[in-house]
Amino acid sequence: MVDEGKVKEAVKLLLEGIGEDPEREGLKDTPDRIARMYTELMAGYEDHPSNHLSRTFAAENNEIVLEKDIVFYSMCEHHMMPFFGKAHIAYIPNGKVVGLSKLARCVETYARRLQIQEKMTAQIADAMMEELNPQGVMILVEAEHLCMTARGVKKPGSKTTTVVTRGVFQDNERLQDLFFKLLNRKEEAEE
Ligand code: ZN
Repeated sequence: MVDEGKVKEAVKLLLEGIGEDPEREGLKDTPDRIARMYTELMAGYEDHPSNHLSRTFAAENNEIVLEKDIVFYSMCEHHMMPFFGKAHIAYIPNGKVVGLSKLARCVETYARRLQIQEKMTAQIADAMMEELNPQGVMILVEAEHLCMTARGVKKPGSKTTTVVTRGVFQDNERLQDLFFKLLNRKEEAEE
């Protein structure tokens, strides 16, 4: 649970720390605004993937299911700057499937915390393995990190890609190729 009072105090101190006047017109409501914003951005701590993945449907067809282009916004735990992009999630059911919008909710559960992209990708995969007990999961996340691109360490728009495989996707090149093919990213994968 976000302690808005503490966040408010901290932002005030931060403003003083950078040499600003927290009482001036444009800034006087900023600590309060940021405190309320953090309640929203950090809502993932209060959420659990089972809230979204527990309602499943029986499926006879245990073929690959792919949900592409799940847009997310998160915040890196090293700089508390946003990183954002898309998650692509594939899984092979084991008799149970979940509503596609629920996968997006599962991504949000982990995105709305202080994160690192590698960890978030693995957490989503592990949650799916636990909640859906599928034959396997493969997730690719691509994101721009403002802590890098806004500071000129990397060029604007440059992206970080993380891939996680679980279950039958691990060490199965044919399935991994199928995943990249479905994403139309075969060329990039072969680079
Ligand atoms: Zn960072």
